[in-house]
Amino acid sequence: MTHHFFARLLPLLLLSAGGAAGAAPQPPSASAASQTSAAASSAPAGAATPADFAAYRSCLAALRPEAGQRGVDLAVFDAQAATLAPDMAVVGLLDVQPEFKTPIWDYLAGLVDQERVDDGLAAMARWRDELARAQAQFGVDPATVAAVWGVESNFGRNLGGRPLLTSLSTLSCFGRRQAYFRGEFYATLKILQDEHVSRERLNGSWAGAFGQTQFMPSTYLRLAVDFDGDGRRDLVDSVPDALASTANFLKEAGWQPGLPWGFEVRLPTGLDTSGAGRRSKRPMSAWAAQGVMRVDGSPLPAGDTPAGLLLPAGPRGPAFLVTRNFDAIYSYNAAESYALAISHLSDRLRGGPAIAQPWPTDDPGLSRAERREVQALLAARGFDVGRPDGIIGTRTREALQTVQRELGLPADGRAGMRTLQALRAQPQAQPPSQPASPPPAAP
Ligand code: CA
Repeated sequence: MTHHFFARLLPLLLLSAGGAAGAAPQPPSASAASQTSAAASSAPAGAATPADFAAYRSCLAALRPEAGQRGVDLAVFDAQAATLAPDMAVVGLLDVQPEFKTPIWDYLAGLVDQERVDDGLAAMARWRDELARAQAQFGVDPATVAAVWGVESNFGRNLGGRPLLTSLSTLSCFGRRQAYFRGEFYATLKILQDEHVSRERLNGSWAGAFGQTQFMPSTYLRLAVDFDGDGRRDLVDSVPDALASTANFLKEAGWQPGLPWGFEVRLPTGLDTSGAGRRSKRPMSAWAAQGVMRVDGSPLPAGDTPAGLLLPAGPRGPAFLVTRNFDAIYSYNAAESYALAISHLSDRLRGGPAIAQPWPTDDPGLSRAERREVQALLAARGFDVGRPDGIIGTRTREALQTVQRELGLPADGRAGMRTLQALRAQPQAQPPSQPASPPPAAP
């Protein structure tokens, strides 16, 4: 989860990584962090100059009085500050600009693939009792909570590895949005002081989102709950606490029990979609009167539930009617593509089908398994793309561009189905100038 400020950042980070693989985008989310490992590696190194150090020390000294006013014990502040050093790499990440725009079909293909559905079903089985208890207490169904977990941290596999105090103190003293990050820095100190979470366990995304469901520290203080009864709110090492905290977040964001987030629809020919949007809600009956149907051709639910028409790829792609529960999911990370990924994953976890209408492209996006296959095929052709992790970073994209030129494809560095199929068909590079030579004779 992230703050609104990151609403715009998160998609950017995902874009720069060439697709959503990890968990949340949002800058703040770990998923984003994992997905942007390539971006991070190309960001300025974290080494601070002596001038940076001096500025950082005097900045911390200046932050001390307000920390005290915010309820941070000054002895705690002093003990933590004494051992902190700036990480200038996070300042660079704050300003990363995407060099590459990720289409929605790439984003969804990586975030809602069969692997994540399978992992989600296993997670729901393992945590069935806790998810049922969270639904009873907060009104949010298990599939939705599990879907948030799966997108934010890949079910706890990817929490982000940057020490929160280091990142947030650095961002409190350098770069844009210092006032915002100072609030999060103080909140982190409060967590250390009051919540008995050790500093060693407080790691997360570069922007400070942490734990299984990637809360910002201020959100943690406001909304985290102890759900396993040990007296601590622990979003890092307690799955029940994290799941219930997510349910509590959605409840506070206006979640209405029993209401679907929305569903895919089929639009009548000639429908004016110029005013479409998540916020332009009209009664379901009004959409029905205009000829909008469920995508399978069945009628819309009766009644006047307000719903907005979401067209993530414009009028020629899939269409969805979305309710206020979609808005509640949106508030977790302020990006419609993100909310759609969680919503659609929740449907898949309920046994629902894939999105029926094709995206407006003849070169569909790849699952994480297919992205790993692309990386393995590139490695087999002699490219160093690192460990095949399914994250299309800078090295993979550069290798793709070279290979795409060789294969006569558009050299855009994008890992799409057409490039994968071409690589499968021609797994070995064919040096054009090398004379054909007979294979060595068998001994
Ligand atoms: Ca607990």
